Amino acid sequence: MLGGMQDWALRVTHLIDHAEREAGGREIVTRWADGRIERTNWSGIAVEARKLASALARLGVRPGDRVATLAMNHHRHLVAWYGAIGCGGVIHTVNVRLFDEQLVYIINHAEDRVLLYDRQFQPVIDRIRSQLTTVEHFVVFDDDSGYPALIATGDADYRWHMGDERDPCMLCYTSGTTGNPKGVLYEHRSTMLHAMAEVAPAVFNLGARAVVLPIVPMFHAAAWGLPFAGALAGVKFVYSVTNDAAVLCDLMNREKVTHSAGVPTVWLAMFGHIDATGEAPRHLQQVTIGGSAAPRAMIERIMGMGIEVKHLWGMTETSPIGTAGAPPPDWDDYSHDQKLDRISKQGQVPFGVELQVIDDDGVALPRDGQTSGRLQIRGPWVVKRYFKAEEDAVEDGQWFDTGDVAILHSDGTMQITDRSKDVIKSGGEWISSVELENAAVGCEGVAEAAAIGVKHDKWDERPILLVVRKPGADVCAVKMRAHLTQHVAKWWLPDEVLFVDELPHTGTGKILKTALREQYRDYRLS
Ligand code: ADP
Repeated sequence: MLGGMQDWALRVTHLIDHAEREAGGREIVTRWADGRIERTNWSGIAVEARKLASALARLGVRPGDRVATLAMNHHRHLVAWYGAIGCGGVIHTVNVRLFDEQLVYIINHAEDRVLLYDRQFQPVIDRIRSQLTTVEHFVVFDDDSGYPALIATGDADYRWHMGDERDPCMLCYTSGTTGNPKGVLYEHRSTMLHAMAEVAPAVFNLGARAVVLPIVPMFHAAAWGLPFAGALAGVKFVYSVTNDAAVLCDLMNREKVTHSAGVPTVWLAMFGHIDATGEAPRHLQQVTIGGSAAPRAMIERIMGMGIEVKHLWGMTETSPIGTAGAPPPDWDDYSHDQKLDRISKQGQVPFGVELQVIDDDGVALPRDGQTSGRLQIRGPWVVKRYFKAEEDAVEDGQWFDTGDVAILHSDGTMQITDRSKDVIKSGGEWISSVELENAAVGCEGVAEAAAIGVKHDKWDERPILLVVRKPGADVCAVKMRAHLTQHVAKWWLPDEVLFVDELPHTGTGKILKTALREQYRDYRLS
């Protein structure tokens, strides 16, 4: 038996309709790389999104087809999200920091049919274009013959494509643990539920008065869902194409930004700017830090500026919100140190997701604030199966293994203590240790190589490479670097190459990364 309520599929297009109707005049501001400021509002975004959706449909984009972007944060990128989704397509935000081979792999794997990109990435497109097998239309965002011309052909009265709430709407790739990136295909429903959870006080705390400058890139983990949650709440968005601290600080002050969100590295740069100039963001009320653990000293400094710090944990596979730090009922009784302790942990789940930690035998561990185990998560906005994968990514009872190691406290607070997955996170972006190692062993004279992340003050983690030489070989760090430069992005190059006599192995012959990480836990980069 069905209940007696109305049909209203949880489709993302409702978000942009709502923003246009209820917050149409609320500004959306872009600061382009050349310093030019461009202003529109939710109503302008909605009109352009309808035009783009109709233009894409005319180009042949059918429901379910992927439309890719290779772009920084700006309002045209926001339009592309709603336009691609609005014609029934799937927006695929490609990470601009990937190197050519990965871009080719991801775009071909996604079978993107249209690629919208910023002019600054023209050299990348020129290099990879001949290898892209599915892209039929290349559209430059910031060139009059590109996006503006396409929009001009669009229909402002276009009616959104309607369909099922379980239809896909967005595709994001994560590098995960193996060499090949994996795609997570978000649904309209999962995205809507996630957006509804995100605006809550315990998470982003978004309302009509919020002025949000998302530093988190739109190509990374759906910009933490902010383009969707922001429409739901009718916030003012302020976008900057560049992430220079001086630019951001000035923009925050001129546009009276109240909320910002980004990885820890961004804040180190901002502190440097404040120390050098004495100029600080004056209107910020809340800073959200995630993607890597927010360091205690950073939390303390931001709190000292009278700003509330939210600490988020999540991953592309979780749309990405898993937990957020919210003040407990007795927060006012907490001492300064207790507050810092609490915010340094990763926070609590919002309604909609559940966590458990398990031991190596799969047995659930107590929430005792002491026992650490593999962190698992489930809920409607958590991945079930990667895009085009043949098997589910979840274990019994829908639990998805995050690759993080954590402790659960009795009040539900989650604390990340380690990572079991074999990747390095530098400045909020992944470096695949597997790919680094594969490239390294291709260098003449190398018998075996292992890449691990070590602590770094600015980038959180940086890779070091441990190399075992073949007998009699004379490969050196300079040679290794020169070799790697041909195979990986510059920012992936290991900070140090160390030559060792042997590497530890597991019973099955794999390099024992846990032992190496333990051995180099306190390694200081020189
Ligand atoms: P994002 O970087 O957007 O959060 P990714 O899928 O790229 O998403 O990375 C997710 C991983 O990043 C997590 O599994 C975890 O290892 C790490 N991570 C994210 N947030 C935190 C945090 N607050 N503290 C510690 N590690 C984190």
